[in-house]
Amino acid sequence: PDLTKGTGPEDAITQAAATGTGPLVVVEHVHKHFGELHVLKDINLTVNAGEVVVVIGPSGGGKSTLCRSINRLEPVDGGRILVDGKELPKEGKELARLRADVGMVFQSFNLFAHKTILENVTLGPMKVRKQGKQESEKHAMELLERVGIANQAGKYPAQLSGGQQQRAAIARSLAMRPKVMLFDEPTSALDPEMVNEVLDVMTGLAREGMTMIVVTHEMGFARRAAQKVVFMADGQIVEENTPDEFFTNARTDRAKDFLSKIL
Ligand code: ADP
Ligand code: MG
Repeated sequence: PDLTKGTGPEDAITQAAATGTGPLVVVEHVHKHFGELHVLKDINLTVNAGEVVVVIGPSGGGKSTLCRSINRLEPVDGGRILVDGKELPKEGKELARLRADVGMVFQSFNLFAHKTILENVTLGPMKVRKQGKQESEKHAMELLERVGIANQAGKYPAQLSGGQQQRAAIARSLAMRPKVMLFDEPTSALDPEMVNEVLDVMTGLAREGMTMIVVTHEMGFARRAAQKVVFMADGQIVEENTPDEFFTNARTDRAKDFLSKIL
């Protein structure tokens, strides 16, 4: 299908989804230190187009650092990371453009407090993608509709609930038409009753073929949406498994021990 021609809110997201097959994110022998601390130890991970990978593991294991490295918010010390076949440059305009291929949603929503929800969503496309205002606003409204908060477009972030703010953050990322979306514990700062409205949006994205790397301990989401679970601890990928196998029959003692604590 021609994914460049959207007709409605659903298409607004499908456009952003990767259309190809094969590896979209490749992490090869990646190492990262913070001073003496070796936080990523020979990480190897391939995420294919359209695939959803859930990353799970104890606090301090390196999950956020891995996400930030894929997005070049953190430089790595060894190995390389390719997104759609390209290694991200260290700086410059090219970096901003390629970084836009990788959408990122954090635990804290990181919206601009002094801009409306609509402005938050249109800012990136206008600045980085050099998209016109009218086109950006049209696309933004489609995305806000899709995440269920079109009626909040004129409000400021503080006027929205946590769940609504996180959905706005997802819409803002999608507005850049990323090839892959990274989510770093997107629901862990939310009140329990708001977790599902965010997970539902993410599940919808997954169904529509978006390539996603999701750090979360939400088992239900992993089982519904993920093809692969990666268990990370002490800077290493300890186990890669299907969600069903991982949650019922983990292979490693380290994973079993972790699961016994969170389940
Ligand atoms: P996780 O997301 O799995 O909890 P992180 O990637 O946040 O793990 O952290 C991995 C390790 O790196 C932890 O020991 C953490 O304290 C350390 N770390 C993370 N960011 C920094 C930083 N900017 N400077 C120094 N140490 C850091
Ligand atoms: Mg983290």
